Amino acid sequence: MTRAAVIGAGPAGLMAAEVMAKAGLSVTVYEAKPSPARKFLMAGKSGLNLTLEGDFDRLLSGYGNAAEALRPALEAFDNTALRHWAEGLGIEVFSGSTGRVFPKAMKASPLLRAWLGRLDALGVSLERRAQCSGLFGTNPIINDVARDSDVTVLACGGASWARLGSDGRWAEWLQAKTVPFEAANAGVRVAWTPSMQRFWGQAVKNVRWHAGDVVSQGEGVVTADGLEGGGLYSLTPAVRRGAQVTIDLLPERDIPYVVDKLEERPKKVTLSRWLNKSLKLPAVKVGLVFEATGGVPDMTMHDLAHLIKAVPVATSGVMSIDKAISTAGGVSFSELDPDLMLRDQRGVFCCGEMLDWEAPTGGWLLTGCFATGAWAGAAAARYVS
Ligand SMILES: Cc1cc2nc3c(=O)[nH]c(=O)nc-3n(C[C@H](O)[C@H](O)[C@H](O)COP(=O)(O)OP(=O)(O)OC[C@H]3O[C@@H](n4cnc5c(N)ncnc54)[C@H](O)[C@@H]3O)c2cc1C
Repeated sequence: MTRAAVIGAGPAGLMAAEVMAKAGLSVTVYEAKPSPARKFLMAGKSGLNLTLEGDFDRLLSGYGNAAEALRPALEAFDNTALRHWAEGLGIEVFSGSTGRVFPKAMKASPLLRAWLGRLDALGVSLERRAQCSGLFGTNPIINDVARDSDVTVLACGGASWARLGSDGRWAEWLQAKTVPFEAANAGVRVAWTPSMQRFWGQAVKNVRWHAGDVVSQGEGVVTADGLEGGGLYSLTPAVRRGAQVTIDLLPERDIPYVVDKLEERPKKVTLSRWLNKSLKLPAVKVGLVFEATGGVPDMTMHDLAHLIKAVPVATSGVMSIDKAISTAGGVSFSELDPDLMLRDQRGVFCCGEMLDWEAPTGGWLLTGCFATGAWAGAAAARYVS
C-alpha cells in the first residue's frame, strides 16, 4: 500500500490526511506536540469562526496578493463546502449577524473529536511527540529517524503562539525559499504615558480605526503595551508598512455636529466633563484625546472636533509575532507548483498557514487552511497513483 506522511496535526494537516486516506493511501500524521490541533482548540475558545457567508468573490477577496495562487484550492473547497463538511461530521453551524459562520457549540472540541474518530475509522495513524527535523527525499526524519513515505504533506503552521506547536522552526530545515514571518492580525504597540494606566483593560467601543487606506470597525482594548482586539487586526499589514493609526471616536457624527456641541460648553465645566456630557465620550476616549495632545487640549473647538474624528495614536509597530492570531510569510508560492508541490522536492507538498499568505480574521484563516489541506492531499494522492 502506498504510504503517505503528514507533518503537523492542525486543520490543514488533518484535512490532507482525510483526503489521502479516502483516496486509499496508508496515512501517518506526525505531530510534535503530545496532542493534535492545539491552535485549532485555542481558536475554539473565541467561538471558532470556521468560515464566512457570501459568494466566492467575497471569499477570494480576503486573501489579498495571494488570492490568485489560492484560487484553485478555494474553488475546489470553498466556504459552502467547508460548512457541509462540518455538518457531515454532525456539527451544527450557524451564521452570526456579521456573516461569520460558527459551530453552534461555539467551540472546537466536539468537531475535533468527531473528526479524529472519522480519521481513525479511515485507518489514519497519529503519532504524537513526533518532531520532524528534515526530509530525506520524501521520507520525513521523525525524532532523528527517517520514516519511509512515498509522499509527504507538510502542514506545520505559521509562527505565532509557539507553545501550541506552530513555532516556524521548519523554515530552518526546509530546502525552499521562505518569506520571513511577520505578525498578522495583531494588536499595535504603544508606549503610553503613565496617565493611560488607569485605562488598561478597558474597551474602546463604537469607533472607526484607520491606518493608511484601511478602515475598520470593531472593539479594541487598551493594554499595558498598546491596543488589542478584533477591530484593529485588519490594520496590521498597513501598520507593518509604517502607517499611522488614527481613531474616529464618533463615527456616527460629522465635524459640524461635534463643533456645535463643543461650542455650547459653559465656562465653569471642565473640558473632560463636557466631552462626556455633550458627546457621550466615556473616560477612556477622553483619555485617548488627552494622550494625543499631551494633556488638556489647548486648541479651538473646530480643531478639537477634527482631533476627535481622527485621534492619532503613537504606535511603534505591531505586537510581537508570538501574540499574533496568524502570521504572514512562509513558503513562497514561487517555490510551489499549482498542486502545492515543492518544485525542487518532488513528492513533498505544503499547505495551511505555513504558506506565504495572510487574511483577516472572520473565517478566512481556517477556510484557507482547510482548502489548501484538501488541495495538497488530493494532489499528493494523484502524484503516487
Ligand atoms: C487565539 C487564536 C484564535 C483564532 N481564531 C480563529 C478563528 O476563529 N477563525 C479562524 O479562521 N482562524 C482562527 N485562528 C487561526 C487558526 O487557528 C490558524 O490559522 C490555523 O490553526 C492554522 O492551521 P494549520 O493547520 O496551518 O497550522 P496549525 O494549526 O498551527 O497546526 C500546525 C501543527 O503542526 C505541528 N508542527 C509544527 N512543526 C512541526 C514539526 N517540525 N514536526 C511535527 N509537527 C509539527 C504543530 O505542533 C501544530 O500542531 C486563531 C488563532 C489563534 C492563535
